[in-house]
Amino acid sequence: MAMLLDYSLPELEERFAAMGEPAYRARQVYQWLWQKGVTDPQDMTNLAKSLRTRLAEEEPLALPAVVRVQESSDGTVKLLLSLSDGESVETVLIPEKDHYTLCLSTQVGCAMGCTFCATGTMGFTRQMTPGEILSQVLLARRILEERKSELALRNLVFMGMGEPLNNLHNVLASLETITHELGLGFSTRRVTVSTVGVPEKLERLGASGLASLAVSLHAPTHELRNELMPRAESLCPLPELMERLMAYPLKPRQRITFEYILLGGVNDSPAHARDLVRLFSTFRGSRPKVNLIAFNPPAEGPELAYRAPAPEDVEQFLEILRGKDVTVMLRKSKGQDIGAACGQLRAAHEFGSGA
Ligand code: SF4
Repeated sequence: MAMLLDYSLPELEERFAAMGEPAYRARQVYQWLWQKGVTDPQDMTNLAKSLRTRLAEEEPLALPAVVRVQESSDGTVKLLLSLSDGESVETVLIPEKDHYTLCLSTQVGCAMGCTFCATGTMGFTRQMTPGEILSQVLLARRILEERKSELALRNLVFMGMGEPLNNLHNVLASLETITHELGLGFSTRRVTVSTVGVPEKLERLGASGLASLAVSLHAPTHELRNELMPRAESLCPLPELMERLMAYPLKPRQRITFEYILLGGVNDSPAHARDLVRLFSTFRGSRPKVNLIAFNPPAEGPELAYRAPAPEDVEQFLEILRGKDVTVMLRKSKGQDIGAACGQLRAAHEFGSGA
């Protein structure tokens, strides 16, 4: 059953029309929920008392329960959330210089099975609803308010548990509310969806114009990507993915970010760096931007068969890319001591800054 939190504004207006209520009442409720973070109808003080009571009685509205809050030595905060059916997901608040970035989950588990990813080892359980996806933002804001944080939540990255494009319908619904001026009000430039690349759905995300795009690349060739991310590669082999990305609609000054996790002895050699340069040399359209992340085995969760790259190999990899004029950033993996770096490299970075 859909909850109030699952509705887009037009859906909420429809719902209210069916209840015999005017559209402006739906807009008021939408603003209470998303602009003010008020989820108890009794606190929606500009509604008639009878409507508040009716909403409280007829419209189920339960935020996920925060069952654990863990804080890393670098300030990263991981929330473990229990959903209404007892399933749990994580959401991670990442402190940056002057703001927080929130890393959102979109599925319970993930079907993609990427070999370096802790979530990938869990398998897929179910899709998260729009309300569950959005609740992560409300709960993160509440935590920051409780802590009287001086840093505001400014960026959202869909980079937690799950492959967002495998739950595109609900992800697009949540993006509507995230970017709506009466909703959470984020600029589309401050919201990034990260994907391994799912054909057709990629195009639908692009057509929505609701978020920036990050692509989990992690290998410069089809053969190696097929070893690391076999399901992603069978859905869309690397040459086809690059073709699709070249046609991806971008706004002025927007660029596609490519994520590349350096796995010691696997994809971090100078030859791999040169292959990456070659891959980008044929990339027409926008100039790609690469985020390199040095893999660090997570402190918690399942054991993965990879090791961290040697610092000198990371340095050499960076230099080769920079020497060939590839825009590249080395991102720190944050929250390592609380296991916040599993999922889709979720603790990595300042996405959504529109750069
Ligand atoms: Fe799924 Fe992303 Fe992990 Fe791959 S990296 S298994 S797509 S959560």
